[in-house]
Amino acid sequence: MHDHQVFAVKFGEVKAGSQAQHFLNPPPELHEQPGHLDFAVWLVRTVFGDIVVDAGFTSTVAAKRNRTHFREPSEGIRLLGVEPADVSHLLLTHFHYDHVGDVGPFTTARIVVQEREMTFWTGRFAARAEFRRLVETEDIQRLVALGLAGRVDYVDGDREIVPGVRVHRVGGHTPGTQIVSVESAKGTVVLASDSAHLQYHVTHDCPAKLLTDLPEMYAAFDTIRALAGSPELVVPGHDPATFERFPAVPGLDDIAVRIA
Ligand SMILES: [Zn+2]
Repeated sequence: MHDHQVFAVKFGEVKAGSQAQHFLNPPPELHEQPGHLDFAVWLVRTVFGDIVVDAGFTSTVAAKRNRTHFREPSEGIRLLGVEPADVSHLLLTHFHYDHVGDVGPFTTARIVVQEREMTFWTGRFAARAEFRRLVETEDIQRLVALGLAGRVDYVDGDREIVPGVRVHRVGGHTPGTQIVSVESAKGTVVLASDSAHLQYHVTHDCPAKLLTDLPEMYAAFDTIRALAGSPELVVPGHDPATFERFPAVPGLDDIAVRIA
């Protein structure tokens, strides 16, 4: 077991409606809970290099989509003492607008995506309303250009990125959604991204509203549980509780927490 360090950095949030809106078939008690999602990116520090998971969205897109934005996601990584240009790998969990917007500053990183995700967003169904509204044209164009420039590593399934850090295709949320497992001193951390927006999805086996394949989403919950060293080490994509459950990085209260 490696002892990699894992951090979450918050760069934005949205408060609206109730938590029930994020569920396919909302449990009654969630109608009472005010709607609140955080937007985050994750940093994995290893002796093999610094790895960033997802690229969030920029202030330009935040204004367009009426989202509260605290900082550029790459700036959040900088606050943790890591220069984005020095990051070795940028792992993109899927291509929704809130995960792939601020790729630019990671100028030398290998960009790791699932082949099926690129195929989907450049294919037949990407323009259909329920999918189209979740991506930005400029983001997809940028990823295609990076692919043509030889910067993208395509994965079909699982791959070890460096010893103790792996991506796993789970699908469900989108065809090429991947999660990231990281060996740490606390056990294996699972960065679940949008395979589980909130902890509740996994703890109650309760699917999210945004999906492309329901059986795959259920199977993703199984994979998350099987990989995680303990239930506490499952890190959902948008759960505000992440920033309460884990200790703040000294000097970065309400900005960054250390998960492991
Ligand atoms: Zn998503």
